Amino acid sequence: MKKPLILVTNDDGIVSPGIRALVEEASKLGEVVVVAPDSPQSGKGHAITIHDPLRLKRVKVFDHIEAWECSGTPVDCVKLAKHVVLKDRQIDLCVSGINHGSNASINIIYSGTMSAAMEAALEGIRSVGFSLLDYSFDADFKPAKHWIPGIMSFMLERPFGEGELLNVNIPQLSEEEIKGIRLCRQADARWVEKFVEGHDPSGQPYYWLTGEFVNNDEAEDTDVWALKNGYISIVPSKHDLTNYEALNTMKAIETVKKATEKQIAEDITA
Ligand code: MN
Repeated sequence: MKKPLILVTNDDGIVSPGIRALVEEASKLGEVVVVAPDSPQSGKGHAITIHDPLRLKRVKVFDHIEAWECSGTPVDCVKLAKHVVLKDRQIDLCVSGINHGSNASINIIYSGTMSAAMEAALEGIRSVGFSLLDYSFDADFKPAKHWIPGIMSFMLERPFGEGELLNVNIPQLSEEEIKGIRLCRQADARWVEKFVEGHDPSGQPYYWLTGEFVNNDEAEDTDVWALKNGYISIVPSKHDLTNYEALNTMKAIETVKKATEKQIAEDITA
């Protein structure tokens, strides 16, 4: 059987330990091609580069693996992979990460890791973003690696569905401490932010973003709950940001308005 083609990318940069861990696991399951940023791109969300040229350079970062570093954002990497590096080839799976830090809950909208995975999903490619709840450069990815091939195989072997996207977050625990996997919804949490103000050597003020993650959603079906309780969280995600509840409410109001106008018109003509 033909080996599946797996595109690997991330937002922490091609030399981060997290992407190395992911490349190691992905190469057990298929042919791996890496297209990843040449510098850290965390928090870049779905940004794309329009006003500057993009550079792609073939690099030897992983043994026996085709790898390209890109001067752009994580989403630029996926676009270049699809239209340049792997042009005319079918990508069977895109995996992004392993991110150094959580992408649970609201973090998904800021995340370069998840936006890269999302971009692949928009192109009809099944896709998974992996994140470990440890922001440090020398985080221990070994317990996470244990679970990754199973999740990748699940996505590769699914007989249906195109462009499906999973947001996978892994708690910072040992292999024995991780209790298993929970399918979840995104918790309704947010960042309460603060800017630390200082002055640069020329006396000009600068502002440095800091924040605290606040979760007011205590339900047990969320990713934040699963992670806090020792589980890996999997949230099937999608790009559609439509507020269906509001849409229905507004449509109902519109219907009432139209019905009222019609009634008035009839009353007048009667
Ligand atoms: Mn990152």
